Amino acid sequence: MTGKGHRLTGLGAAFIAAAIAKIAGLDVFLQTASALVAAVSTSLPDWVEIPYYRKGVRTGSLIKHRTYTHWPWIWVGLMYWGFAVKELEGAAMIGAATGALSHILADAPNPMGIPWIHPLQRIRLGKKGWWRSGRNETVLVSLFTVFGVSIWVQVNPDNVFAQGLTQLTQESVKQINVVLQPLVQNFITYLSSNVHF
Ligand SMILES: [Zn+2]
Repeated sequence: MTGKGHRLTGLGAAFIAAAIAKIAGLDVFLQTASALVAAVSTSLPDWVEIPYYRKGVRTGSLIKHRTYTHWPWIWVGLMYWGFAVKELEGAAMIGAATGALSHILADAPNPMGIPWIHPLQRIRLGKKGWWRSGRNETVLVSLFTVFGVSIWVQVNPDNVFAQGLTQLTQESVKQINVVLQPLVQNFITYLSSNVHF
């Protein structure tokens, strides 16, 4: 994923972090803090590598690219630690971990892969990776945002905003069904009159 793509996943990551902070037992203020930290942490694994640039182009980094900082378990550990620490520091840890994990997840399908198990051993998904960095970005970011919001709605069923969203989703599903039903019916009728078994 490109830098811009990573930054745009900040919205989905914010909702997920708020949900996780609530599960951790943090109050609304700390949930918001987690969300804000997550929103600005979706590029964290790339810049803690301490990259150096020549004429605006990244030429290398102090920590080898996509190794320790892209090892998911470090961030899972940080989140676990955040659960124990609570308070503002805990909220920040949960937010940073959520942002970083979103980043790593977005990097994972690229040909370069990410180190799933050993921090220095990147694993590629499939033979050539699923897609190159920058591909499918709009779809991925949109899906991730919907995913994040729906997680947050699940965790906050009593929130007025969440209730509104749930109702809106149910209405749209109903509308889609109304449109799809005759189409599906026509298709079945068509099949049964044209295909002879
Ligand atoms: Zn990265």
